[in-house]
Amino acid sequence: MGKKLLIVDDSPAIRVLIERAALAGGYEVCAQAKNGEEAVKLYSSTLPDVITMDITMPIKDGLAASKEILALNPEVKILMLSAMGDEEIVNQAKEVGITHFMKKPFKGEEIIKILDNM
Ligand SMILES: [Mg+2]
Repeated sequence: MGKKLLIVDDSPAIRVLIERAALAGGYEVCAQAKNGEEAVKLYSSTLPDVITMDITMPIKDGLAASKEILALNPEVKILMLSAMGDEEIVNQAKEVGITHFMKKPFKGEEIIKILDNM
């Protein structure tokens, strides 16, 4: 069984894109969340090895969710997916210890290449 991946994004199209690439790349997609609140709950119930984390989402954004998840497990690997205009949040994410980022739009293979090296 491959590494467990939690996909977090409010866009169904992006969740599908990441899921397809992840399954092709040998990952087990253990859960998908459409906002940060779901992400924290699903992190705790599924304990993924890696997380792809969108930034802009309703209810709770990706930075707030990442902070809560990192407080539960400082070792968890988070790949943050940023869009244009997210530069300030990316800087804040670096300050809380997130080290992997990918800019939208991206190709499925690109995201797997990064996940494989995390
Ligand atoms: Mg979004």
